Amino acid sequence: MQFPFWLSVLPCCVLAASIATAAEEPLKLNLRSRTGTASGEKQVRETAATWDPKRTALIICDMWDDHWCKSAARRVAEMAGPFNDMVKQARARGVFVIHAPSSVTAFYKDTPQRRLAQSAPFVKTPAPLSTAPRWGTAWCWTDPKKEAVLPIDDSDMGCSCTGTKCAIREAWTRQIATIEILPGDAITDDGQETWNLLAGRGITNVILAGVHLNMCVLGRPFAIRQQVYLGQNVALMRDMTDTMYNPERPPGVDHFTGTDLVVAHVERHWCPSFASTDLTGRPAFRFREDTRPPGR
Ligand SMILES: [Zn+2]
Repeated sequence: MQFPFWLSVLPCCVLAASIATAAEEPLKLNLRSRTGTASGEKQVRETAATWDPKRTALIICDMWDDHWCKSAARRVAEMAGPFNDMVKQARARGVFVIHAPSSVTAFYKDTPQRRLAQSAPFVKTPAPLSTAPRWGTAWCWTDPKKEAVLPIDDSDMGCSCTGTKCAIREAWTRQIATIEILPGDAITDDGQETWNLLAGRGITNVILAGVHLNMCVLGRPFAIRQQVYLGQNVALMRDMTDTMYNPERPPGVDHFTGTDLVVAHVERHWCPSFASTDLTGRPAFRFREDTRPPGR
């Protein structure tokens, strides 16, 4: 039995055409930021931005395969599927994808993606990189010149489990396998390597996604504070993140409201945020355990 010619050829042509068009289209992002007025009122502002995908990187922060907090690990596993769908869209649009599973990049030793980062030619940074060590990489601490204290108390490290709290242990070994690492992507958790990759490609726009917003997504040497110090246009993908926050600690809100408070902190002091909808056309990701009314 022979298939008609058009049946075998047409879908490929259509697919190729749609990918080519998608790759040329600018990213249209609704960037949400917050300002404070003289009277202390906070204002939310949303601005339509157009970013050239070829000058944009998506940095995936610490989406590890496991976590010492069982609840945190469960939430990453739940988010990883939609997260990978989002990464696929970003990649197809021409965005450069950097996987940054901190302290476990050795797992990817000798892979083309790890080598791509290690072999990127050195480019001097326009501002000093962080050198303070914390949790296996350099760290950008809370900056009193730029930000207020964090709106959630994570001094207990933020295990959100009810009942018995999780003991801190070395739990992660690699990035969660659900998130595909493809040819052309890079793997690094190093500030200088990240800068070499970005500068070498003329990338001036950086999207941060992953976990945990009150810690690594702000503090790692490839993450929000460092990228802002380096003068990049930075944006947080606010539905593809999570926090380490124990609702039993101040301000005593539920876990997901705690995350939203940190998103608002970032929008006020560091960079705007947008929802993955702007890339995927799908509703923003929401955790199953987030039982609050929709509409955040
Ligand atoms: Zn826990």
